[in-house]
Amino acid sequence: MADSGHPDTDFPAGLANRTSASDMERKTFPRQHPEDIMTDHTPTERPARRDIGDDLVLPFTVDALDVRGRMVRMGRSVNEAIRQHAYPEPVSRLLGEIMVLSVLLGTSMKFNGKLIVQTQTDGPVNMLVADFTTPGYVRGLARFDEAAVKALSDEEARDPVRLMGNGHLVFTIDQGPNTERYQGVVALSGSLAEAAENYFAQSEQIPTRVRLAAGEVSDAQGSGWRAGAAMIQHLPPAAGSRPPEEEGSAADNWPRAMALFDTIEDHELLDPDLSPERLLYRLFHEDGVRVFDPVPVEWRCNCSREQLLETIRRFSEEERAAMVENGRITATCQFCSGTYEFTPEEVGLTGDAPEAEGTGDD
Ligand SMILES: [Zn+2]
Repeated sequence: MADSGHPDTDFPAGLANRTSASDMERKTFPRQHPEDIMTDHTPTERPARRDIGDDLVLPFTVDALDVRGRMVRMGRSVNEAIRQHAYPEPVSRLLGEIMVLSVLLGTSMKFNGKLIVQTQTDGPVNMLVADFTTPGYVRGLARFDEAAVKALSDEEARDPVRLMGNGHLVFTIDQGPNTERYQGVVALSGSLAEAAENYFAQSEQIPTRVRLAAGEVSDAQGSGWRAGAAMIQHLPPAAGSRPPEEEGSAADNWPRAMALFDTIEDHELLDPDLSPERLLYRLFHEDGVRVFDPVPVEWRCNCSREQLLETIRRFSEEERAAMVENGRITATCQFCSGTYEFTPEEVGLTGDAPEAEGTGDD
């Protein structure tokens, strides 16, 4: 009903007016500092566990390789989010990827509020948006041309460029009213993971590798959507702070970390029987990997009756009148499909406002 490009009142406003990526160089995200990135987590060293669970972020560090990173595993959280949308399979897969990306990035930055990750592209799936709200809530939605998505062959639907086309990936941090919004933009003409890597390389100048996967997985419990992500970043100690005898071999650290990381298969990011700790152990046990306390994640929409009411009130009187059906306005949250009903009076229509239904435009 109340659909004119506003998923809800939280929708990132003014994106069309944004400045170019270079203009906002200094206004980008709160910087990640190696020393404070994980101060919220108590380092714990423990053997890999199989039963660590799902729907979590697992930060880790491989000190010997100057690497820190995180893994994200989403089971029930992403399944609930995807199922209620009932999008075509290729769109669901992208939605799973952007949701897990928002969790990956949202838990790696210091802020309180919301990180919005959004695509704006010219292909069949022209918009994907995922919001991560601290400390661990995520929701998402997609806009797409159903006929154009259906027209793609299975092989074409696996190609991110055929699905999304070309455009931008936009990151926005919103910490609430009366705070400055941080925004970053990077070109998108491939996978979401590639765009995220490019963002870190260009804007943050941190060499970064990102892997994202989403898909339907069947096991003894049945079939469900799952999503997984992994990221490593190269954060060497400041020049001169390393013992001189280690300087020579340190040059190989990042290439070695990337080579190990690149052996990760999509199914390993999705396998409910392969815990992220076991996967990390498989990759980095020779170099010594330490994990930090996991951060739980869940699918949760923060829509409310008040928010939707506010959105509807922003439409013109004529538009609001046109929303009235059988004396009621019904609005559906596009993130969670929750529905809310309002009386014409609640949305600021006077009792004698004409109902649009059947009145024509004469
Ligand atoms: Zn909602």
